[in-house]
Amino acid sequence: MALKKILIIHTGGTIGMFPTEQGYAPSKEGFHRVLASIPELSAPSMPTWDLIDMDPLLDSSNISVNEWNKIGSMIAENYDSYDGFVVLHGTDTMAYTASALSFMLRNNAKPVILTGSQIPLCEIRNDARDNLLTSLLIAADDRVHEVCLYFGGKLLRGNRAMKYSADDLIAFESPNYPSLADVGIEIKYNASALLPPCKGRFSLQPLENIPIGVIKIFPGIQFELFDAVMTERLKGIVIETFGAGNIPGDEKALLPIIRKATENGTVMVICSQCPHGTVTLGAYEASATLKNAGAVSGYDLTTEAAVAKLYYLFSRGLTREEIKARMERSLRGEVTMKHE
Ligand code: ASP
Repeated sequence: MALKKILIIHTGGTIGMFPTEQGYAPSKEGFHRVLASIPELSAPSMPTWDLIDMDPLLDSSNISVNEWNKIGSMIAENYDSYDGFVVLHGTDTMAYTASALSFMLRNNAKPVILTGSQIPLCEIRNDARDNLLTSLLIAADDRVHEVCLYFGGKLLRGNRAMKYSADDLIAFESPNYPSLADVGIEIKYNASALLPPCKGRFSLQPLENIPIGVIKIFPGIQFELFDAVMTERLKGIVIETFGAGNIPGDEKALLPIIRKATENGTVMVICSQCPHGTVTLGAYEASATLKNAGAVSGYDLTTEAAVAKLYYLFSRGLTREEIKARMERSLRGEVTMKHE
């Protein structure tokens, strides 16, 4: 059987960083040198691979819509020439990029595996080596047809993942969806959790830098401070509420803001501050105001996926009503609907 061919896209992040006087920073030449010193990368049981570097390489704190479009284009331009893709990325915003790519790569049927590490590959003790080698093997596996995040022994759906630990080597969780594979002595795929291959024609939806916001509700929040943010420029807002979608009941302060957002046509998406579980708007009096004002439920969407989905839906040029309808529907397995 012909060896699978994988494209590695290096965007920066700790995995390829080297110590400098200002702390760890990406180095293209350094990273290529370390890769060349790992014999396992060219072992007969490994897929063959090519590497392209994003220019410039970035700490992922600086990765945003512009870079998502660059990464998306690199995949789209090479889609027919490779069997799978490994995207090397900083951990800080990896879950955002994974979510964004899951929407942008329409009808994707190939494995796109985002990975990185907490310790650079150049260090003697590191998690980079396993994350890279295992991601390459997963990217060559016919069972995977979606954008995933592989880290610390777990393969997660990209748009279900969140960075959970700033220092553990198992740094990501998927609180509302099972792992797609668990990696121990063997790579054990969870067949029932994986998406089936898409049948339509692959295409890339580039994203626009749409003005959207995220508000985290907290006890004592002074809603009137947000009045200035709620202009007609704001296209969408993710509200991270308490528990199942609740907000403080000071209607005098809150209602004018919500009314303004509704009049301005801002799409309000209600997510929960609890990583696990789902939003149920209207279950309590404290969430009924949001429901009555026309906010949409994010159910168990992560904030990362909610933000990426808003960018995507607005970039497609849909109407506000079409966007609201799609926010409450699963497009790429990112959300669990009540009837699922
Ligand atoms: N600041 C780094 C980044 O996200 C952290 C990492 O890669 O682990 O690029």
